[in-house]
Amino acid sequence: MQQILDGIQSGASSDDFAHLTIPESYRAVHVLKSEQDMWAGVASKDKDPRKSLHVGEVSTPELAPDEVYVAVMASSINFNTVWTSIFEPISTFGALARLGRESTWAARHDLPYHVVGSDASGVVLRVGSAVRNWKPGDRVTVHCNHVDDQDPSAHDDSMLAANQRIWGYETNFGGLADLAVVKANALMPKPAHLTWEEAAVNALCNSTSYRMIVSSNGANMKQGDVVLVWGATGGIGAYATQYVLNGGGIPVCVVSSPDKAAILRKMGVEHIIDRAAADYHFFDENGVHDETEWRRLGKDIRGLCGEDPDIVFEHPGRSTFGASMYVVKRGGTVVTCAATSGFMMEFDNRFFWMRLKRLIGSHFANYKEAWEANRLISKGMIHPVLSQVFPLEQTGEAAYQVHHNVHEGKIGVLALAPSEGLGVTDHELRATVADQLTWFRR
Ligand code: NDP
Repeated sequence: MQQILDGIQSGASSDDFAHLTIPESYRAVHVLKSEQDMWAGVASKDKDPRKSLHVGEVSTPELAPDEVYVAVMASSINFNTVWTSIFEPISTFGALARLGRESTWAARHDLPYHVVGSDASGVVLRVGSAVRNWKPGDRVTVHCNHVDDQDPSAHDDSMLAANQRIWGYETNFGGLADLAVVKANALMPKPAHLTWEEAAVNALCNSTSYRMIVSSNGANMKQGDVVLVWGATGGIGAYATQYVLNGGGIPVCVVSSPDKAAILRKMGVEHIIDRAAADYHFFDENGVHDETEWRRLGKDIRGLCGEDPDIVFEHPGRSTFGASMYVVKRGGTVVTCAATSGFMMEFDNRFFWMRLKRLIGSHFANYKEAWEANRLISKGMIHPVLSQVFPLEQTGEAAYQVHHNVHEGKIGVLALAPSEGLGVTDHELRATVADQLTWFRR
């Protein structure tokens, strides 16, 4: 690995990279199939990723013709790594087994360990024989849509592909490692003005928010739309807020502390609700929805911007979903991609049908959407929301912080990068967005 790192840092040529020896094993963050029942009977909040995420050597798999090896400089924590580490809602080994049954190449994924991680920035080391657009030495970021392009269902919107998966969550060989195995159709150019760790945190959350807010597959926001953003300084919320601001929308941002509200003010957000201070109780003590609290939220939103939201960016799930469906404007859209607080959701259908509202389910992004979202990062129009950086050895601690919601924005993880601050090649563009790059930094 040292040879690879030396090559990256000395700006070696494509030919030099192509001749580097690929190591037979590499350092990777993984969970073990033998431990998938370790949390039986333990409450979710007490399941500790520091105990289930291991860092150790794993064997390098053979490269399929449509894949590349990426030397990973940095990666990030996504909530899906938390889900994997607490084996909720189900163990990811079932997904690896199902993938393993699809083809000879896919069988490599079905292992007694799962290398996790759905983001990466780094350098292409080797390309498979069918790869045409990328070469060794290319600096890349990786998006996490894993699709089989021989499947006809993948050729309209690839997120509708029958066997669409999330790389590093429903596949093996993910990004929280020194080396990753990536399909060539998941590569994107690394934004030149960003460090490795800044470049590594965007693809999953940024692309997800792009699809939800901007894309015609999502809410397709127009200028002037009022958008209620839950978790507005969290991983996806922080990008969603930027898309609303950039696109001429009016964000109404919900967070749970004055510190998070202060970040939003730096970003230029005017309308902020501190849900902890407001102390909403959308359910009564018997777990029954309390419509008066939905009304109170609606009144608070009107008090801030004078209108009901055209769009609600929904992901907390059970705890907020009924309220989101209630407060969205007549004819408005709730777009949802998650259910952090619980999957079984309820809402009052009368306010849905009689007010002609729409509900859109959304999941990650297709290649085109991810590419457009990456392009906006590369142009300095959307910014990474990196708050902290951990070494790979401390991935468990980083995941623990996300699990317990004591982080802001995104947490980066250094893999091969020996320190923070490396990898910038466009210093001129960087200087123009220097302030924005500090919004979330602790
Ligand atoms: P984060 O933990 O970074 O942010 C989530 C935010 O949601 C928190 O900052 C918190 O903000 C808010 N939140 C948490 N619980 C509640 C609650 N009960 N009520 C109201 N707000 C709450 O996670 P991400 O943003 O990275 O991901 C959010 C969810 O989206 C996860 O479940 C994740 O798995 C999912 N996801 C789905 C994707 C997809 O493609 N389908 C892609 C990416 C993420 P605060 O406390 O400040 O209010």
